[in-house]
Amino acid sequence: AKKVGRANHQFFAPAMNAAAGARLALERALRLALENQQFELHYQPKVDVASGAVVAMEALVRWRCPQRGMVPPNDFIGVAEEIGLIIPLGAWVLREACRQNRAWQLAGMAQLRVAVNLSAYQFRQKDLPEFVAGVLRDTGMDASCLELEVTESVVMHNPADAARMLDRLHGQGIHISVDDFGTGYSSLSYLKQFRLDTLKIDRSFVRDISSDADDAAIVRSVIALAHSLRLKVIAEGVETDAQLAYLRELGCDQYQGYLRSKPLPAHEFEALVRAGG
Ligand code: C2E
Ligand code: CA
Ligand code: CA
Ligand code: CA
Repeated sequence: AKKVGRANHQFFAPAMNAAAGARLALERALRLALENQQFELHYQPKVDVASGAVVAMEALVRWRCPQRGMVPPNDFIGVAEEIGLIIPLGAWVLREACRQNRAWQLAGMAQLRVAVNLSAYQFRQKDLPEFVAGVLRDTGMDASCLELEVTESVVMHNPADAARMLDRLHGQGIHISVDDFGTGYSSLSYLKQFRLDTLKIDRSFVRDISSDADDAAIVRSVIALAHSLRLKVIAEGVETDAQLAYLRELGCDQYQGYLRSKPLPAHEFEALVRAGG
């Protein structure tokens, strides 16, 4: 066995050894990060297009790693999924978002809904609705103040299962958004089978909306489609006044983006809302 081990070892080029080593170190650090409370949530406002008021927020996870600094989710969510850490991490995110929002409500801050991103792995857990109900019970937050964001590709992976899952979540009074809408290749007929509240238009369609006629046409169609199905529409990645003006003209309901605010640590988000959004 020892000989085989050594032979295997020699098979890898040094660069691959380094990459494998780095990956192992990342996995180990990630596992410890949850135990050592190195994750935190930042909050980005969701803004009503017509009034300019902050009406909700999205919780976005960050990893404050002592060695790596502040790590963005795109650099660790995938690994967390592969090593199964996404289930306890996702549970922590949900609990923390609800706890923080309830604390804000009790402190007299304007009542806002908090949106939490769900990984495909979480969405496939059969007991997810019971788990979410338990978190709402424990934190004392009303179901109507929780929104779950699931991507188009997650719901389309198994539409029949997804429809049942969305029924069970929506039936509790939880809002459901389809994230990154337009990036998948779904048939639109599924929209009427799913219990949904909001379509989130992906950032890639918003970027050039005021200069690219095709992007503008797609956004216009998505808004018309959503409204005829009695769904709300939110645009993500709004960075300029020109983009916002265009979205207003097309009748988009809400927006998110750096134009109003980046995702902020809890105390900074609180200050933004208390200052009147
Ligand atoms: P997402 O759900 O599509 O979130 C939107 C991303 O766009 C966020 O990146 C946000 O910071 C960024 N963003 C917001 N406004 C603007 C803008 O005006 N311009 C640009 N260029 N970007 C903007 P972030 O926080 O790095 O999150 C990246 C992705 O990581 C999220 O994409 C989501 O898929 C995932 N993610 C974040 N938090 C969680 C979580 O708690 N659980 C899971 N499963 N996934 C998460
Ligand atoms: Ca999202
Ligand atoms: Ca998105
Ligand atoms: Ca996205």
